[in-house]
Amino acid sequence: MCGIVAYIGDRDATSIIINGLKKLEYRGYDSAGVALIENGKIEVRREAGKLARLEALVSEQPVHGNIGIGHTRWATHGVPNQRNAHPHLGPSGKVVVVHNGIVENYLTLREELLAEGGTFNSETDTEVIAHLVEFEYVQTNDLFRAVQNTLKRISGAHGILVMSVDEPDKLVAARLGNAGGVAIGMGEGETFVASDLPAILEHTREIVFLESGQIASIDRQGCNIETISGKKIKPQVQRIT
Ligand code: GLU
Repeated sequence: MCGIVAYIGDRDATSIIINGLKKLEYRGYDSAGVALIENGKIEVRREAGKLARLEALVSEQPVHGNIGIGHTRWATHGVPNQRNAHPHLGPSGKVVVVHNGIVENYLTLREELLAEGGTFNSETDTEVIAHLVEFEYVQTNDLFRAVQNTLKRISGAHGILVMSVDEPDKLVAARLGNAGGVAIGMGEGETFVASDLPAILEHTREIVFLESGQIASIDRQGCNIETISGKKIKPQVQRIT
């Protein structure tokens, strides 16, 4: 279970996310990546090995945007190489996912998706989440509902962050069980997300923690939270001293 960092606001998301991931390096990891929405398209940069390699890649192939997600991976399914590094795109490239945890029923789901004509670009369990969110988005036309429905289909413990070009002003985060935390940091016209506080504390100390079974729709103004079964939860902001 490694690191997740995300940002939505007016600043450059790439540097905020990579600097946040650096604060989580102590947890250990084998690869890292970021995804941003740039000019209406999802751009992914990922690399095996240390964050310095991801930084080198990003300086060779720069990517800019005001919304993005990032991850440091500790491989559980699939070797630690570039192709298996997060973020993972869905089949149409419209949805992108970072994930801490293990999709325990991923083989069954992968077989179902393959039987429907799906193709996979990695060996990870995580990529099935990206496929399922895209599938559920076609049914619901709503990213939050698509993630909510996806969570009902996967077993195991998870921290998940999803972004889509179809809803470019929103991040959706979820927590199921204990695969690390999901902390949402409230800024002034900007919002941060991280699996662990050190990644975002330099930016804000006003934090909402997701509990297991909760899902959040996150924008520049803050977040709305529901349980997986659809019960609305009032976000409780805690001030971290
Ligand atoms: N199970 C996922 C993978 O192997 C996520 C690993 C993690 O929690 O970093 O890619």
